[in-house]
Amino acid sequence: MSERAPVNRILRSSIVDGPGNRAAVFLQGCNFDCVYCHNPETIALCNSCGRCLAVCPAGALSENAGGVLWEKERCLFCDACIRTCPRNSSPRTRFLTAEETIAEIDPVLPFIRGLTVSGGECTLYPAFLQELGALAKERGLSFFLDTNGSYDFSGNTGLLEITDGVMLDVKADPDNTEYKKVTGRNGYDTLGFGEFLARKGKLFEFRTVVSPGLFNAAALVDKACRRIKGVDPRIQYKLIRYRPVGVRPDKAAKLAVPGDSLMEELAGICESCGIKAVIV
Ligand code: SF4
Ligand code: SF4
Repeated sequence: MSERAPVNRILRSSIVDGPGNRAAVFLQGCNFDCVYCHNPETIALCNSCGRCLAVCPAGALSENAGGVLWEKERCLFCDACIRTCPRNSSPRTRFLTAEETIAEIDPVLPFIRGLTVSGGECTLYPAFLQELGALAKERGLSFFLDTNGSYDFSGNTGLLEITDGVMLDVKADPDNTEYKKVTGRNGYDTLGFGEFLARKGKLFEFRTVVSPGLFNAAALVDKACRRIKGVDPRIQYKLIRYRPVGVRPDKAAKLAVPGDSLMEELAGICESCGIKAVIV
């Protein structure tokens, strides 16, 4: 039987979620609690407490078989439900099968070249991903995953085979305390996972969000680049400026936006290892 996954939103067209014009599926739920998360309502799953029903001005939320039913057609996207939620979650999530998900993308197939799944953390739902990836490939779409660096693809050859490219977050150095400061979790072997993917030809890019003072970005980027240096010339490193939009106010108050000189220094480190840097 097909596994259902909590789908937060489906974009039928995106040029920032991998190569070319792609559809993007965002799943709800994450095993990290990153200090700079700009979609914190995607971290926790809704537990159907029902508290947000009363604040919806559009009647878009109702009780349904012990859960919460969200009617997209009625929704004003005012976020009153998210602001009310004691879990900082969202009721605007639908549990869909892979078939139901791809059916929402089928109408735009002539206009896209691939499908990317992001989150939350998409690798929390590997069976769903594998099924969705197979359906994407049947349609001639490339299949990419955007992950937080906690998943070891070497343990799931089925998912690895169906995946064309991985966008892998390198949050901080797992060998020191910075990792917990950034993610709220103990370190995973992200660089080891990245090196494995690179050697399989499946690593599309490393991604690091940069905020001065949060962690030593120069040391991290240098270490990451050295691990994949020379493996695959197509791999790029996306250096992402921290921006406060959407970030929880108590956390944003402690974070700084990087200047051009730091971003250019990091790009120089990548390029000295022969890795293309993209600053966004
Ligand atoms: S965003 Fe939430 S509260 Fe606002 S209309 Fe939609 S369901 Fe209702
Ligand atoms: S979104 Fe939050 S407030 Fe609404 S039902 Fe779910 S857990 Fe309760």
